[in-house]
Amino acid sequence: MALNQATIVVHSGLNNDEQFGCVVPPITLSSTYNFTDFNQPRAYDYSRRGNPTRDVVQRALAELEEGAGAVMTSSGMSAIHLVCTVFLRPSDFLVAPHDCYGGSYRLFESLSKRGSYQVQFVNQANQQELTEALSFKPKLVFIETPSNPLLRVVDIAAICRAAHKAGALCVVDNTFMSPALQKPLALGADLVVHSCTKYLNGHSDVVAGAVIAKEVTVATELAWWSNNIGVTGSAFDSYMLLRGIRTLTSRIHQQQSNAQAIIAYLQKHPQVKKLYYPGLIKNPGHEIACRQQSGFGAMLSFELDGDKNTLRQFLAALRLFTLAESLGGVESLISHAATMTHAGMTAEARTRAGIGETLLRVSVGIEDSKDLIADLEQAFQIALKGSKLSADNITNVKCLPAES
Ligand SMILES: *Cc1c(COP(=O)(O)O)cnc(C)c1O
Repeated sequence: MALNQATIVVHSGLNNDEQFGCVVPPITLSSTYNFTDFNQPRAYDYSRRGNPTRDVVQRALAELEEGAGAVMTSSGMSAIHLVCTVFLRPSDFLVAPHDCYGGSYRLFESLSKRGSYQVQFVNQANQQELTEALSFKPKLVFIETPSNPLLRVVDIAAICRAAHKAGALCVVDNTFMSPALQKPLALGADLVVHSCTKYLNGHSDVVAGAVIAKEVTVATELAWWSNNIGVTGSAFDSYMLLRGIRTLTSRIHQQQSNAQAIIAYLQKHPQVKKLYYPGLIKNPGHEIACRQQSGFGAMLSFELDGDKNTLRQFLAALRLFTLAESLGGVESLISHAATMTHAGMTAEARTRAGIGETLLRVSVGIEDSKDLIADLEQAFQIALKGSKLSADNITNVKCLPAES
């Protein structure tokens, strides 16, 4: 019987304990396991290589992404690093999106500078740029959709087809959508990576990652390397992650419905200059999103009309949106790209990427959407009043030298 996602998240790994009949899989913290006799190891010998709690969450991750196997890692970054370590040698090319997650950009760039592999950053929505990059016969094409923070969407199936023709493997960072809203392996990808820190765990209290492979041989190779370089996730984090996954489907649906209510409100707001959400018809990639996603998600970005002062007042006035990086938790977060998530980029690079100085990214939580909207409304009002005051101040300052 093929189960649906909402059932898998609850049932995967349930009732698997032979000793006590635990309904919820127990947590096994032991780092080591005794041998039954001389030269007679058990199924587990050392927890870096294998751990029963991690195995349960790895099976759940593989089931959710419809893969043959999964490796849970210490972070999203170690998951991405694991994939590159396994598949890329110094002469190999990696094609990555020009607007990928900042940490991934830094990892690819720093390791290519040291000669671990070669990287080409391209705008994957631009057919010509992609075709040119593929003519270099890359080993690996890294896809991230929707992108951060502008929610650009690229066509996973089309990029995978072109990459496979060029002899490359495709890996998709599915962090922003989660398997509840997007299934990259079914769309043609060979591998999926996650920052489980975000939607999969969903409670902002675990840092973890995962790689899920379509083929069992690839999954086995990833598992071997994850032990070899020591990036496997801890038993406690595995337990926490599985607990988070239990509510993935219901959380993300609530978050998405709240996001849509907020979008409807922001769309009509005079202080919102630009609005980015894959569900908006005018958002580039909207049609692709309709095809490859089963929802538009709960991440949105908008540009506030005004200056730095307006921005500061708006953020200070918010009560329910916490000014913090990260995303995907039950609580609503807001972040400012230029000073937070994308502070590593130069101002020119940000302008080139389309990231305005008043761009705010929102990770919508599961609170009551009416409360969230009321909070935004009072913050807009305070910011508007504040910016009028500061405009007066600037006029006064300008007048002074002329008078004196
Ligand atoms: C956060 C994030 C990562 C990195 O994950 P960590 O768990 O923080 O190491 C990678 N990709 C995306 C899209 C992310 O949002």
